[in-house]
Amino acid sequence: MAGTQHLADPGVSWSGTVAYGPGPLHAPASVPELQALVAGAFRIRALGTRHSFSTIAASDGPLVTLQAMPADIEVDTVARTVRVAAGVRYGEVARAVEAQGLALANMGSLPHISEGGAGSTGTHGSGDDLAVLAASVRAVEMVGAEGDLVRLTREDDPEVFGGVVLSLGVLGVFTHLTLDLEPAADWAQVVHRDVPAAEVTAEGLDALLGGATSVSLFHRWDGRIDQVWSKQRLDPDREVAAQLPPVIWHGARRSPDPVHPLPELSADSCTDQSGTPGPFVERLPHFRMEFTPSAGEEIQSEYLVARGDVAAALAAVSELGKRIRPLLYASELRTVAADELWLSPAHGRTSACVHFTWRSRPAEVKALLPAIEERLALFAPRPHWGKVFTTDPTEVRSQYPRLENFRTLRDRLDPDRVFANAFVDRLLGD
Ligand SMILES: Cc1cc2nc3c(=O)[nH]c(=O)nc-3n(C[C@H](O)[C@H](O)[C@H](O)COP(=O)(O)OP(=O)(O)OC[C@H]3O[C@@H](n4cnc5c(N)ncnc54)[C@H](O)[C@@H]3O)c2cc1C
Repeated sequence: MAGTQHLADPGVSWSGTVAYGPGPLHAPASVPELQALVAGAFRIRALGTRHSFSTIAASDGPLVTLQAMPADIEVDTVARTVRVAAGVRYGEVARAVEAQGLALANMGSLPHISEGGAGSTGTHGSGDDLAVLAASVRAVEMVGAEGDLVRLTREDDPEVFGGVVLSLGVLGVFTHLTLDLEPAADWAQVVHRDVPAAEVTAEGLDALLGGATSVSLFHRWDGRIDQVWSKQRLDPDREVAAQLPPVIWHGARRSPDPVHPLPELSADSCTDQSGTPGPFVERLPHFRMEFTPSAGEEIQSEYLVARGDVAAALAAVSELGKRIRPLLYASELRTVAADELWLSPAHGRTSACVHFTWRSRPAEVKALLPAIEERLALFAPRPHWGKVFTTDPTEVRSQYPRLENFRTLRDRLDPDRVFANAFVDRLLGD
C-alpha cells in the first residue's frame, strides 16, 4: 500500500459541527489499495466531501477518503451514460457531460458534493418530475466487506439494486458509479419576491411549486414566501419568455436584480437569475461551482412529506414561527419525484421537502427540533439522512416499507458490520 496516506485526525465537517472521530483517515491512491485497506479493517467508514450535518459519516474507527484516487469521468455518448469515480464532485461531472452535449438528470443546490456521498444520503434538488440524485445511478462498483470488488447494475441485479444505490455507506465503499444522462437542453432561471400570505394557500403553493421544472420557495414561517426560484428546462421551439412564470405571479414580482437566499448576502455566488438561457449546470444548482462556499456557519434540517400535504405541514409548523425565527437563516420548500430506492426519503411518494438552514447554534437547534417533529408527525415525515434530526429511530424505521429487505441485504453483504457506525446502528437497528 505504498501510495496510501494516513491522517491521524480526520477533522470536522464543512459546517464544523461534526467531528469525524479519532481516525486515522486513510487516502488510498487506487482501487487495489482501497481493497487491501478494507480487507484488513475491522471497521471502516467512507468520507465524501464532508457536507452532511448529521453524524452519518463519523466513526470511532478508521475512515477512508477517495480524494487521492484518479478522478475518472468517462462519458459514453452512444449509451448516454457517464462512469465516474465516487469521490468526484457533482459539478465536475456536470461540466464534463455538458461538454459532450449531455446533461445530468438533476443536481442539488450545491455542486461541490461528491457522487458517492450525495447518493448515499438521498440528496435531491427540486422538481415534481425530478427524483433524488441516486435515482439516475444505473451501476455501482464497490469494495465489499472482505475487500472484494463488486459490480451491481439496475438491469442485472433488479432484486437488490434499489437497496444498494442509496445505502448510507453501510454496504461497501463505492469506487465508481454509472449514471444515466439526458440530451442537453438550455435552462433559464428567474426569481420572484414577496408572495403575500393570502396567496400561500394549498392551491397557491401547488401552483408555485409546479410552476417550473424546478422550484424552490424560501420563507421564514410568517405566512409569506420571500423568494421563489424557478428553473425551467427550455423547449428550443418556443419563445423563452412564454416558458417562464409571468412578471407578476401569485402577487409576487420578478426580481430585477439577482438575490441570495439569505438576502443580506451577496448574490455573486449564485447562478444566473436573469432568465437568460444557459446550460443546466449554471442554472439548476443555486450556487456556482467556481465559488468555494465559505466554512459553513450553519446547520441544516429537512423532512420529506407527501407533496399533497405541503400546505397542511407548513401551517402546522408555522405555529412555532416565533421560536423558529431567532435560530433560522432561511427555510426552503422543494419537491421531489417518487422513486423506488429502498432507503430514499422519497420512496414511493412524490414529496415536498420542508427544509431549515439554521444558525450555527447546535444545542438550541437540537432543543427545538422535537417540537417541529411533533408538528410534522401527522404527515409521516422522513428526515433527510444527511441533516440534523431528533426523530425516534423506531419512527424513522416505520416510514420505510422496504427496511426489512435492506436489513436482510446488509446481513448478507456485511454480516460483521465492517461499515457500521453509531449513527446507522441507532437508525437502522442492528
Ligand atoms: C451548503 C449545503 C447545501 C446542501 N444542499 C443540499 C441540497 O440541495 N439537497 C440535498 O438533498 N442535500 C443538500 N445538502 C446535504 C448534502 O448534499 C448531503 O449531506 C450529501 O450527502 C453530502 O455529500 P458528501 O459528499 O459531503 O458526503 P459526506 O457527508 O462526506 O458523507 C455522507 C455519507 O455518504 C457516505 N459515503 C461517502 N462517500 C462514499 C463512498 N464512496 N462509498 C460509500 N459511501 C460513501 C458516508 O459514509 C456518509 O454516510 C447540502 C449540504 C450543504 C453543506
